Amino acid sequence: MATKATEPAQKSAANMNSLTIGVLALQGDYEAHARAFASSGARTVLVRKADELAGLDGLVMPGGESTTMLKFLEKDGFFDAIGKFAASKPVFATCAGCILLAREVLDPKQRSLGALDATVERNAYGRQIDSTILTLPTELPGGPLEMVFIRSPRITRVGEGVEVLAQRDGFPTLVRQGQVLAATFHPEMTADTRVQQLFLEMVREHKARGPST
Ligand code: GLN
Repeated sequence: MATKATEPAQKSAANMNSLTIGVLALQGDYEAHARAFASSGARTVLVRKADELAGLDGLVMPGGESTTMLKFLEKDGFFDAIGKFAASKPVFATCAGCILLAREVLDPKQRSLGALDATVERNAYGRQIDSTILTLPTELPGGPLEMVFIRSPRITRVGEGVEVLAQRDGFPTLVRQGQVLAATFHPEMTADTRVQQLFLEMVREHKARGPST
């Protein structure tokens, strides 16, 4: 950690520039994610087909409507291709993306990729009108984090390997499991880029380790 903190800013910016982050662009707020990562120094690519996953260093699965995204994913082997990608490369999933990535989805039950060992309840905080912005404590350095919740899911169970980085009313809102990062809120809708920076750091570290054998 100490060496990273003292790394010259220019060098770390160059490292970020060499990262290619795909943003799943089937539906939802993918453009805001692409903007947030581009302004954090990464090269961003919109992903609409399975073959566009090739060559990416990491993938963002945005918020939106998970049932709609699922319909697109179930065509042309896209669902399986993303599952395979998530098993070997970093993925950052927010809100509907978090629902798609979870092991178990409830209210109602829905097919999911299972890359995040968690149970997620959809729309657990009520309808659109109940969406809210809260500033809550987080394990991320730099103090409390502003979190935008929009028809947010609730993570009701996490497996042993899942690290909880923030909570709302005792339920996890930001979690990490190895190369998977997931949020039930929308980090792309605030000016604070700490969550994006964490993901880019995960991607950079994963890339530095080289291809797994
Ligand atoms: N309620 C949506 C779903 O079930 C998720 C909402 C969001 O992504 N902001 O897919």
